[in-house]
Amino acid sequence: MAGEVRTCSSCAEKAVFVDRESGTHLCSRHLKESVETRVLARILQEGQLPGIIGVAFSGGKDSTALLAALANLKEKIPVRLIALTVDEGINGYREETISHAREVCTILGVEHRIITFSEIYGETLDEIMRTTNRKACTVCGILRRRALEVLAEKEGIRLIATGHNQDDHAQTTLMNALSADIKKVFAGSGHSTRFAHRIKPFAAVSEREASLYAILAGLFNDLPECPYAGDALRGEIRMLLNQFEQEHPGSMRNLAQAEEEIRTRLRDKVEITPLENCRICGWPGSGEICQVCSLIKKNETR
Ligand code: SF4
Repeated sequence: MAGEVRTCSSCAEKAVFVDRESGTHLCSRHLKESVETRVLARILQEGQLPGIIGVAFSGGKDSTALLAALANLKEKIPVRLIALTVDEGINGYREETISHAREVCTILGVEHRIITFSEIYGETLDEIMRTTNRKACTVCGILRRRALEVLAEKEGIRLIATGHNQDDHAQTTLMNALSADIKKVFAGSGHSTRFAHRIKPFAAVSEREASLYAILAGLFNDLPECPYAGDALRGEIRMLLNQFEQEHPGSMRNLAQAEEEIRTRLRDKVEITPLENCRICGWPGSGEICQVCSLIKKNETR
């Protein structure tokens, strides 16, 4: 009935969230508990935890929600948390998100480290983009991944938690399926002891739940969107899947789980190219020259 106030399926409080697949209604306390239970389960799957967990922290809603959840779980996950922020140097966007990131860390009492593209690569992303034809998100993704590794190594961090949520996984599954390149499912699987191990504690948490968690924690901030945002294919798939989820609740979850299932079943059947140490920088990568050096070099010689 229109205007009807639904109560939580677990208590008498007003519901703030409904899982449309199961029909479960949750109040703010039970939604928070439900998210934290799934985060805890993912973390505990790791077995023995190192003394520090680095959290890839852009300051956006997903990483803010993840940092808050991990900070709230500190009694159950008694490790030192360090928020790791990469400042790519994006004018009109990064200043505000970094200041929000600083504020969130202060509120949560979490240590915060920031590394900039300028200090590692000698240029900001804005400057790099003036001299390359490659897509900004591709360049940014390659350089940011390395920047995070550099920062983690500097801080002695061996485990990095990222804020990728269930919706991100579902979109990636569909994008990989559309490309018909099974190796993409295993992208980034090449192993090197120099890289910190990565985990995705929000893999079973939807984008809607992550946003709501950040809002309920009082940490949500309507930040500007990156001016380079707009991966056309991901954007279209995102819209399509949101529509599909609306009409067929549970689609997003199933798709996200399908990728994990494919990865588990094909792990021994797909040949993963071993990594080699880059001739220029010494970091592990595929080929004699790693992607970062190829990118920076191409940029220099262009
Ligand atoms: Fe980088 Fe693209 Fe994200 Fe902007 S939208 S921060 S360029 S990956």
